[in-house]
Amino acid sequence: MVLLRFRIIKNMIVAPQYRQMHLLKNSAYVNGEWVKASSNVVFAVKNPADDSVIAEVPDMDAADAKNAVDTAAAAFETWRWTTAKERSRVLRKWFDLCEENSEELAKVITAESGKPLAESRGEISYGNSFLEWFADTARHINGEIIPSPWPTKQILLTRQPLGVVSVITPWNFPYAMITRKVGALMAAGCTCVVKPSEDTPLAALAAAELAEQAGVPKGIFNVITTSRKNAASVGKVLCEDHAVRCISFTGSTGVGRILYGLAANGIKKVALELGGNAPFIVFPSADIEYALDQAMLAKFRNNGQACVGANRFFIHEDVYDKFVKGMKNRISQKCVLGHGTQEGVTCGPLINLKQVKIVSKLVEDAISQGAKVLVGGKVRKELGANFYESTLLVNVKPSMSVFSEEVFGPVVSCVKFNTEEEVLKMANSTRSGLASYVFTKDLGQAFRMSSKLEFGMVAINDGILSAAEPAFGGIKESGIGREGSKHGAEEYTELKYTLMSGLDK
Ligand code: ADP
Repeated sequence: MVLLRFRIIKNMIVAPQYRQMHLLKNSAYVNGEWVKASSNVVFAVKNPADDSVIAEVPDMDAADAKNAVDTAAAAFETWRWTTAKERSRVLRKWFDLCEENSEELAKVITAESGKPLAESRGEISYGNSFLEWFADTARHINGEIIPSPWPTKQILLTRQPLGVVSVITPWNFPYAMITRKVGALMAAGCTCVVKPSEDTPLAALAAAELAEQAGVPKGIFNVITTSRKNAASVGKVLCEDHAVRCISFTGSTGVGRILYGLAANGIKKVALELGGNAPFIVFPSADIEYALDQAMLAKFRNNGQACVGANRFFIHEDVYDKFVKGMKNRISQKCVLGHGTQEGVTCGPLINLKQVKIVSKLVEDAISQGAKVLVGGKVRKELGANFYESTLLVNVKPSMSVFSEEVFGPVVSCVKFNTEEEVLKMANSTRSGLASYVFTKDLGQAFRMSSKLEFGMVAINDGILSAAEPAFGGIKESGIGREGSKHGAEEYTELKYTLMSGLDK
């Protein structure tokens, strides 16, 4: 049965347009070798724009995961004792090669995620910036010497690497979500097993190919691919194996909760970057045209499939009509749906049918409760089953699911407000707490909003806030831990206290 399925998929077709892409791999990467699943089973990775098969990759299982963890554990015994300078050099070489191969990497992302090529290039540049940043940060993960209460004793706090980290990543930023974690943990002296999303494993494998070429020592960066069918059993090993000391996950809050539970058994550290429900708040003092331009970025980047994407637009009643009119015009004129490789396309498909159904349902539910569609609101079947129109909804109420849930699609939901207190209450009325956006020219108001918004990140007068330098992360059910900045590397260390006594003897 297994062999039969393998052959059928094998004969199925790898579409000719992908054959020239030299960073496409069809094996997993463990202990510096390109390997198949022990079962020999593979699964197809498809382009969400047209369902064409890009490649087939190993469908690895729990035993393969265990093998990869053992490999990472063995490599840790060497890597942990390397100097910060050595680790910095390795990361720098990897960064340089990724920069040289940016265009090829971007093509891989567009093929498997459907996002426009310009956005894929942006993701590669963003993803690479973490390798560069952590190449530098590796040399600044410092300990402390604390003034001691005893005259003949010294107190040392040193930072030591945690050990093996299991890295589980999503499909929306298939490259950057890996470099952001792996750059940090390698800088700290840890090793890892990466399990990319079943929808987008190819960027991870391309990164592994470049890691190999860059001379990243074997066993430090392992990538295992699994279908959704095996995700839970593989995830269990990656969370529960005794050698694993940290689970670093980016994805839905639901899956994050499962992994957090599994990690609890072994009292393991977690770094969780989960869903958001970002408010985008526009006060009357704001430059409305500028706020609209930023809103387009905050909403339509990756077609709304971003955890920091603006989810609820709160617009002050004095500027509401102007904002809504401007948004309608911009969506009609600037959102061009199509294949990510086509010139001029700004919005690709949603990642899969499941996502299309979720977005459609949220919009239909809102309409049934009185929301009004000003633009979009439908699947564009003539382009393909996964294309959903860029959509503008007004008359949205806090009782609607489109308000309380993360939409993860190209839907702008507008809510009118009157006072600062009122908007703060509505914006904070969510269990999520990742990103938030505020547009105002009133300095006092900017500070008040920054302090009172219950979100891990607040952008004042900007629609994009991610970079390698700041600390990225959420509060409440949006997660635990920070990525990027020096804190991102420190997440993968623990503080060791050494008491140096008897110094007078
Ligand atoms: P989405 O539903 O948007 O794909 P998920 O949070 O479900 O987001 O997926 C993010 C990552 O989590 C993917 O790599 C997926 O394979 C993985 N995943 C999903 N379910 C589990 C699970 N039970 N255990 C471990 N990993 C899982």
